Amino acid sequence: MKYLPEWWNGKAGMDTVCGISYNWLAEHRYDFSFKPEVVKKRQNSIILAFRGISRHLTCKIDNSGSVEIRVVFRKITWDLLADFDVSIVKDSVDDFHCGICGAKRGKSYSSKKELVEKHCLIPFQKWVNLNLKGNKSILIFGSKGNTAAKLSVSARKLQHLSGKNLICVLQLHVQEKHLK
Ligand SMILES: [Zn+2]
Repeated sequence: MKYLPEWWNGKAGMDTVCGISYNWLAEHRYDFSFKPEVVKKRQNSIILAFRGISRHLTCKIDNSGSVEIRVVFRKITWDLLADFDVSIVKDSVDDFHCGICGAKRGKSYSSKKELVEKHCLIPFQKWVNLNLKGNKSILIFGSKGNTAAKLSVSARKLQHLSGKNLICVLQLHVQEKHLK
């Protein structure tokens, strides 16, 4: 990762979802088949793009606990392809769980860092390696007030879907030189 966000000063920022993610991603970027890079940073969020992958597909991580893989088209979030959201609940100094799902499953973690890494970041990394490989396209669908995007593999499936408000087909994999 090329630069540190402004909020990355001092310990307060390090213990946020963004801070934990940033550290983990910097350390684990080589575990990704398509390396994540911070392309946008705000007070409470970072946007990641992936080397060799269309910039229509990005991941937004924010300090409220969202980790979302989304397709942006016509400058709006067209669809979410996956999310690894967490709601951090602190039970005691060394006991945290996810308020969305963790409590039900009885899973707890010894730190906020461990919770974010195991609950969000590792599944996120697995998703990227599994879903972005192969000869795929990003299919953009839309009708009035209804937008959707999917990753597709075969041309045959494409034909099948072409009647369903398919707006366009974007290449998932791009040459590095096409990236800004
Ligand atoms: Zn959860």
